Formats: sequence, C-alpha cells, structure tokens
Amino acid sequence: MEAKLVDNFGRQITYLRLAVTDRCNLRCQYCMPAEGIEIVDRKALLTYKEMYRITRVLSELGVNKVRLTGGEPFVRKDFMNFLEMLDFNDLLDEINITTNGGLISKHLERIEKLKVKSINLSLDSLHRERFKTITRRDEFDKVYKALEELEKSKLNLKLNVVVQSGINTDEIVDFVALTKYKDISVRFIEEMPFNGVGQKQTSEVWDYTKILNEINEAFSDIEKLEDKKSSTSRNFKIPNSKGSFGIIPAFTRTICGDCNRIRITSTGMFKNCLFDDGVFNIRDFIREGASNGELKELFLSIVAKKPKNGFVAEAQRKSEVSESMSSIGG
Ligand code: SAM
Ligand code: SF4
Repeated sequence: MEAKLVDNFGRQITYLRLAVTDRCNLRCQYCMPAEGIEIVDRKALLTYKEMYRITRVLSELGVNKVRLTGGEPFVRKDFMNFLEMLDFNDLLDEINITTNGGLISKHLERIEKLKVKSINLSLDSLHRERFKTITRRDEFDKVYKALEELEKSKLNLKLNVVVQSGINTDEIVDFVALTKYKDISVRFIEEMPFNGVGQKQTSEVWDYTKILNEINEAFSDIEKLEDKKSSTSRNFKIPNSKGSFGIIPAFTRTICGDCNRIRITSTGMFKNCLFDDGVFNIRDFIREGASNGELKELFLSIVAKKPKNGFVAEAQRKSEVSESMSSIGG
C-alpha cells in the first residue's frame, strides 16, 4: 500500500490549499497594499501542468480534497480549463474554490458539472460604499449578483467575512441575520497580519470570543452545531434558520490540533502551516527534473516535520509575518 502523509503528531494530511495565482482584481486592505505589491514574474508561477502533477502525486499519498485559491483564481487565464483538467483526477473527492466572486458568474454552469462542492465567497460588507473602501474597487454589484446566483445553484455557499476592527464589526449581526432566510454558511474570520505590510495597530482586538459575544448579545438562543473533524470554524445556528454561521479563529489558532492541511503557494512554495515561512520550493525541484518517486519522498519527509501549531510555526520563522495572503493562498 502507498505511504500516507502523516506528521510526527499523528495528523494525516488530506487537504491541499493551492494558490493558482498571486494576482487579483481587488485590493482588500487587510490583504494587499493599495499600490506597489510585488507581482511575481509569470515564469515564476507554477504552470497548470505542474499544479496538476503536484496535486496528482499528493493525491496518491492520501490528499482527497483541494481548495483552489489565490490571489483571485478567476483572474488567471484559462483557470476554467485547469479546473476541468483537475476534475479528471479520480483520487480527488472534492475541489473547492475561494473567490471574491467578481468574475465567477459566466462560469457557473461549467463549474456545476464538476466535483466542485462548495464555493467560499469573500464579502466583508453588505454596503456598496463600504465594500468599495475595503476592497479599493467598485465591484459590489457584481459580487452581490454572484452571491444570488450561487444561492440558486447546486453549490454550497459559504461567505467569508474578515472581521476588521473599526470597519465592519457593526455588520456582524446583519450577516448572522442573513442566515435566517438564506441557505448559506457565514464564516467570520479573525483578521491576521498577512497584508503585505505586517501587524497593524487596532484599538480593539476582534477575536473569536469577542465576535461570539457580539452575536450572543443580539440573538439569545444560538445553537452550537457539531463541528466536523479538522473544521477550521466553530459552527452555530439560530433556531429555525435556513443557514448557519461559524467563527474561524485564524489568528488565535485554537484549531491546530486537528489540522489536516498543507499549502502550496503560486510560486510552488510548500507550507506546512499558514504561519511558517515556506519549507521547500517544489517548483524548482520539479524544474530540476525530480521524478514522481522523488517528489513523494520529499512530501513524506517534509510533512513529518509539520509544526505542532501555528505559534510554533511562527516562532520558527526567519522573518516577521508580513507577506500578503494573496501570494500565500488564503
Ligand atoms: N481572492 C479570493 C478571495 O478573496 O476570496 C481568494 C484569495 S483570499 C487571500 C482568501 C481568503 O483569505 C479570503 O476570504 C480573504 O478574505 C482572506 N484573507 C486575506 N487576507 C486576510 C487577512 N489578513 N486576515 C484574514 N483573512 C484574510
Ligand atoms: Fe484579492 Fe482575495 Fe486578497 Fe481581496 S482577499 S485582495 S480579493 S486575494
């Protein structure tokens, strides 16, 4: 039997987050600087063929779920063709996509034919002007239209809301209220310093507990849902609502114990943890002629060293956390 990717803490890796590009059509304040973001040279990006091969090899080692992210996946030329190509990998049970939604509408019919089960749509405000301030682009109408189309589609829809102190915390309750009559799962994400600049000063820290307190004050009867093993969010619902909501403790990192994830950035950097600074460049290894057997050996040996949690990973970094989520892949 083929070896499986298991780390020194007994955690099996079954989930790959793959950033297909570092480019984006938006400039969210918590993710990228307004200008001057360093876009990598096209040749430095993994090709689709390389991404397919890496994913195939990982799937032979037990990865059965892939999330495609970026940057904005739909910005990369021929992304839909890549998605269809990846769908041929019979060892994958699920392919999911994280997107800002601005460019997805015309592809929905094609996506529905694939083993894409769910779309994570990022939307941090229900107000057009505020959305524009956060993303530095006037694309609210397109994104909201995508939300409505996704709701009607057969795909599961999750809304990603980054909770930003002093910017959108007054909308937390409105987002939860949406789940009363919409069959969506809203997930509030703690803001992290992956913005291309580094840690920023905020007057209030909106962590898991504070977000939950805010919701509890507005809805006295929220129910805790059972969380799937390795879920990144702690999940809840308001009784009799169509949808649900969750909180992702991305920064307070209370979910690391069950982590089943690895990441590969758009330039082929392998990351055992969101908070490490990259452990190996797969692109260079492949371009130097590595065989699939050598790739497997490599993956098995680096996964074994996955740090226990995000705090350990951060402590082992050579540099401060300051890269952008757009190049890491959120
Ligand atoms: N462009 C796509 C999108 O926005 O959905 C995919 C890439 S984006 C980097 C993936 C997710 O990371 C988004 O939901 C985004 O809101 C989140 N994200 C980006 N920067 C973040 C940060 N500094 N803290 C928390 N979440 C962040
Ligand atoms: Fe682009 Fe997504 Fe980053 Fe916003 S969060 S700038 S949409 S990559």
